[in-house]
Amino acid sequence: MGILLLKKQDHQLDKKTKFIFVTGGVVSSIGKGLTASSLASLLEAHDYKLSMMKCDPYINVDPGTMSPYQHGEVYVTDDGAETDLDLGHYERFTNVKLSKEHSLTAGRVYEKVIAKERRGDYLGGTVQVIPHITNEIKERILAASKDVDISIIEIGGTVGDIEGLPFIEAIRQLKKDLGDENCIYIHVTYVPFIKAAGELKSKPTQHSVKELRSVGIQPDFLICRSEHPLPEELKKKVALFCNVELGHVVGAPDSNHIYQVPLKLAKEKLDLKVLKSLRLDSKKTDLSRWNGIVDSLENPKNEIRVAIVGKYVNLKESYKSVHEALVHGGLPEKTRVHISYVDSETINESNIQERFSNVQALVVPGAFGQRGSEGMIQTVKYARENNIPYLGICFGLHMAVVEFARNECGLQASSREFESSEEAKITDFVIDLMEDQKQKSGLGGTMRLGAFPCELKTGSHVHKIYAKDQIYERHRHRYEFNNKYKEQLEKQGLVFSGHYKKGELVEVIELSDHPFFIAVQFHPEFLSKPRAPHPLFQNLIEVALKESQK
Ligand code: GLN
Repeated sequence: MGILLLKKQDHQLDKKTKFIFVTGGVVSSIGKGLTASSLASLLEAHDYKLSMMKCDPYINVDPGTMSPYQHGEVYVTDDGAETDLDLGHYERFTNVKLSKEHSLTAGRVYEKVIAKERRGDYLGGTVQVIPHITNEIKERILAASKDVDISIIEIGGTVGDIEGLPFIEAIRQLKKDLGDENCIYIHVTYVPFIKAAGELKSKPTQHSVKELRSVGIQPDFLICRSEHPLPEELKKKVALFCNVELGHVVGAPDSNHIYQVPLKLAKEKLDLKVLKSLRLDSKKTDLSRWNGIVDSLENPKNEIRVAIVGKYVNLKESYKSVHEALVHGGLPEKTRVHISYVDSETINESNIQERFSNVQALVVPGAFGQRGSEGMIQTVKYARENNIPYLGICFGLHMAVVEFARNECGLQASSREFESSEEAKITDFVIDLMEDQKQKSGLGGTMRLGAFPCELKTGSHVHKIYAKDQIYERHRHRYEFNNKYKEQLEKQGLVFSGHYKKGELVEVIELSDHPFFIAVQFHPEFLSKPRAPHPLFQNLIEVALKESQK
């Protein structure tokens, strides 16, 4: 069978884009995404325009249908793509604008190739991993890298995984297609510390590089994650055994804060070395903003305790963006935000006082399904009645509405989401499905997804906090506030302070006689950056601090 190569024009990018391919070795969860994002932020400081992309080798079409326990939170982009949480790191650390194009799974690739085959696009050919799957991957990578100077492509998983092979093969071919001077490979690996020997060990890294070389990729850089700093001798050994220049073996020991990583990599001159390898000029960079962030984290003036009350608390990655947004909220006033995770299933009327005695603010984040919801409703009640600052996010708005409807309006209130499991006594679905949602079937990609405008009510808390009449925030949900109950709830004092489409959908609720009781239908956590904290989180921390000092 003839080998099908990409057509010439498929490779033509508008600009001469340079590529950095990032792979991972030895174990997963070593911070490939953080390393890639930190490097990207350094390269932006040299005035280059970047894009970043994550390729995930699993067969799911996107991570949207996965339980948060599997891969942590589902991150949502402006255009409504449900993506891997690494895209959150990319956006938090850099100025890149991400969209559907920047998150690719093997499932999406196979879906596309199979659809083409069914249409007859392959003209009777045998459809194979090489070249059809790899060509599709290459085309997607090139399409996601238009109009930028440097494109960073992170391959999920660990080198050696069966699923990852087509992606590795695709990036191997791309260097041949695009030219040596336009592509580099960075392998992020792990150097374990063996306590009994009191030593860092390089053997797993050697094996990982061997694995990579067996599929035709010689890494240009090795970023060695470790518990302790890498001694020069060990770097020399790694360089020799892995055939990598000594200066390209970069130590990346554990940091106290993720926002230290860009500064640590800058200290190792990773940005300068990478630019040199890509034949790009470097500049004198100004990293004072990163220094300011680290200073604020290391030398706080204030401290505050916030509890995230949710149902996926066994895996903290499930609340990655909420966690980071809370930390960002404390940065301007140099407030260290201690975050505790409370399993809402363990909260009840009799223990709530004691469980939250040490907490100055409460957050109920997004969730799906009824399990744990009663504990969240108790949490809302406690925050509302005791003037504890409360931020409800998506499901956290649903629970706030149900609580208010039950306890202030005497309704038998619940969410339609729980209908199948509710007893017959529930008569008031204050949270309900809208007509357009009822018509959608299946779970994948069927929610209200992405950024929508929201008009803020003049004079409301949120209006003052955002200092804007209209905002754009990202969404990921099916159920909405049921407008049938609006008047009744309003009469009892609930303020509807944000709307989509001239009042059609409720986006924000609040209480005017409370220091901070705000719940939003959207996910503000996705827009917060350390260098630009989100106003809602910043205000929550400021109010909580002020209240705690009373
Ligand atoms: N389960 C709710 C819904 O689908 C809330 C979703 C969320 O919190 N992201 O509407």
